[in-house]
Amino acid sequence: MLKSIAVMTSGGDSPGMNAAARAVARTALYEGVRVWGISDGYQGLIEERLRELESKDVGDIIQRGGTFLGTARCEQWQTPEGRRLGYENLIQRGIEGLCVIGGDGSLRGAQRLSEEYGFPIVGLPGTIDNDVWGMDYTIGCDTAANTIIDAINKLRDTASAHRRVIVLEVMGRNCGWLALVSGISGGAEYIIVPEEEFDLRQITDSLSEAYERGKRYILIVVAEGAARGQDVCDYIAQHTDIETRVSVLGHIQRGGAPSVIDRVRASQLGEQAALSLISGLSGVVFGYSNGHVVSVNLYDAVNNKKKLDPEYLRLAKVLC
Ligand code: ADP
Repeated sequence: MLKSIAVMTSGGDSPGMNAAARAVARTALYEGVRVWGISDGYQGLIEERLRELESKDVGDIIQRGGTFLGTARCEQWQTPEGRRLGYENLIQRGIEGLCVIGGDGSLRGAQRLSEEYGFPIVGLPGTIDNDVWGMDYTIGCDTAANTIIDAINKLRDTASAHRRVIVLEVMGRNCGWLALVSGISGGAEYIIVPEEEFDLRQITDSLSEAYERGKRYILIVVAEGAARGQDVCDYIAQHTDIETRVSVLGHIQRGGAPSVIDRVRASQLGEQAALSLISGLSGVVFGYSNGHVVSVNLYDAVNNKKKLDPEYLRLAKVLC
């Protein structure tokens, strides 16, 4: 049984990170275990920005986006020297296990610490991209998808009023999940994702035909990992007479109050992460799959590439 653990958020922030960190801290305290909060991810760990948390320190945050711990990207962590400093700072404080809440890259960084020092690590997938292998949900993806849907609803109104083509570029890094689910649920005519080949000529021809048949507007959702929205917009504008506009949603997708799903799941995953660490089970990432909490080997999670759900891809082909 571990007596002292730490929690950090790292990499890109996502709504629900607070709920997860809160659950880790409160579960540890409930179990009589000391818990430390590390500011600004691996950077804060290297620079000794750690503080012990009490229950009240994680009060009033479950409803907020962002992360009360702060997050960062840290080049120094990519070096053995940086990781050694971080490891020593944990050991000096008697910290025996670490929960890292972050995306693919952050979990990779956690895996390095685990393999180099045998340090007990449990990961939680905190990313809007939903790109972590072994699970169909990551903390924050639901809120981000809802933010995109809200934008799509608004863009449809104005697109329809002007008979325009609207190209909406959404986040997701190299993963098309956000574009695919928001495109399906937002009723987009075309969804462009990095996992599937696409042909702009074909899309342009088909949308021109749709306009000739009397279509009032077209919405194209494009994942940032597949193409720049501006490039798609320019291509269509150059090859048709249809008024075309681009909208790049950007960091709005990262913020905002987390959805019920993100809060509940982050809380469940946070509890599991803390209990697992405390009881001596480490080297795993807790995620959600098919409606259940699942634990995935940390090495496997960072060394495999997640595929888009073929059912969603098929559905998009039928409906769009
Ligand atoms: P995210 O966690 O959102 O995917 P990044 O990919 O930027 O964000 O990763 C966050 C941080 O994790 C990086 O700044 C770096 O400190 C650490 N990290 C990422 N990849 C590695 C790696 N291969 N080895 C060690 N640390 C890494």
